[in-house]
Amino acid sequence: MEELNPFKIAQKQLDEAAEIMELDPATHAMLREPMRTMIVSIPVKMDDGTTKVFKGFRVQYNDARGPTKGGLRWHPEENIDTVRALAAWMTWKTAVVDIPYGGGKGGVICNPKEMSDAEKERLARGWVRAVGRFIGPEKDVPAPDVYTTPQIMAWMMDEYSKIVGYNAPGVITGKPLEIGGSKGRADATARGGMYVLREAAKCCGVPLKENEGKMHKSYLELEKLEETTPSEHPVTVAIQGYGNAGKFAHLLIKKMFRNAKVVAVSDSKGGIYVEDGLQYSKTMEVKQNTGSVTNYPGAQQITNEELLEMEVDILVPAALENVIRGDNADKIKAKIILELANGPTTPEADEILHKNGVMVLPDFLANAGGVTVSYFEWVQNINGYYWEFEEVYEKLDKKMSQAFWDVYNTQKEYFDKGKDIHMRAAAYIVSIQRVADAMKIRGWT
Ligand code: NAD
Repeated sequence: MEELNPFKIAQKQLDEAAEIMELDPATHAMLREPMRTMIVSIPVKMDDGTTKVFKGFRVQYNDARGPTKGGLRWHPEENIDTVRALAAWMTWKTAVVDIPYGGGKGGVICNPKEMSDAEKERLARGWVRAVGRFIGPEKDVPAPDVYTTPQIMAWMMDEYSKIVGYNAPGVITGKPLEIGGSKGRADATARGGMYVLREAAKCCGVPLKENEGKMHKSYLELEKLEETTPSEHPVTVAIQGYGNAGKFAHLLIKKMFRNAKVVAVSDSKGGIYVEDGLQYSKTMEVKQNTGSVTNYPGAQQITNEELLEMEVDILVPAALENVIRGDNADKIKAKIILELANGPTTPEADEILHKNGVMVLPDFLANAGGVTVSYFEWVQNINGYYWEFEEVYEKLDKKMSQAFWDVYNTQKEYFDKGKDIHMRAAAYIVSIQRVADAMKIRGWT
């Protein structure tokens, strides 16, 4: 039976990379476990007059390269192993795009769907009071994640500012624009993925053609462009998941590239296939009006499993973890997998895909656009000077493209040394080396 505990997977991925790069034992030991783990109890007055005590987490995995950075998840099934794994992945993510942060993650066990706005506000403020001494613009900078919103970030920033006695917008990112959020944050994850995809396509014979002048246009402008159906040599794409990451991936793939055709998408209810390509505006309309993409008129119904195994050039998992495993990896026909979701591929599947010549753009590289724009938000907060969309996207493009080539060149370098490693291992090596260098130069190891 394959190991599906996320933290065990994260440790296994680290162990494999450490062996390839012959990492020294102390550095390896330091990177196998979080630097600091906080488990807190948060009492919250509920609307019915009772007090409920929620359990919250914050894991600060490693801060050798800068303040820890990572989202906050509010979920009924949140658990410390998931938070630990995600905090480790954040450490590799901030390192691979070379932004001056470490990695962290947090969560609260709760069901926000059953809570009023007032209860959510009290929980948000309670969480900040519980961990307030240990977070801050120079210490640890949270952000939104599963079921946490810009509004929740605003309450948290306000509570922290009250505790320290001054306005501290840099304590948290993903804030509303009115109080120091960054332009371009909404589509940053999918957008960053597009820049990585554009570079990757050059290396594996996928003839993706840029739509000139559109690579740094805001999603609001791209939405207004007419949708065309490419006829000549279209590059075909399937996207699993139609939330923030998946829907923006659909819009951006279609508008930033001249010849890309999204033929399949899915959500938790199932998937759809349209040979001529799915219109973005129509898919969004159907999703908004009926709650699921599966009601797209005239589309062939497919399962989420079938979507993964389709005959397409590019596959974009943008929903759940562990969907590409040892039992289905051999059936995947895509040439490139752009992992916008966290942890969609298991280690066993990685080996199979690599053997089959599939280029996997690993999650912590492919979806690092979100944290990179979060970093830009923090920089803007510290400087008190705000950028336009184009400036944000140009800077994001540079970071993401450079990260792709750093990883790709590392893979080549190891190949030349006789070690045939996959892209995830190469990405780990780039990141681990950067964190290890920072620890060494600071005198920790
Ligand atoms: P979201 O909640 O907005 O959307 C999730 C989507 O997945 C929904 O459309 C849902 O219907 C679909 N889904 C749920 N169960 C499914 C199933 N069994 N099969 C297929 N689809 C299913 O979430 P999101 O923000 O888009 O995040 C998606 C993934 O991307 C997660 O792994 C997340 O960690 C990762 N990610 C997101 C961001 C970001 O900025 N949004 C950043 C980094 C990583």
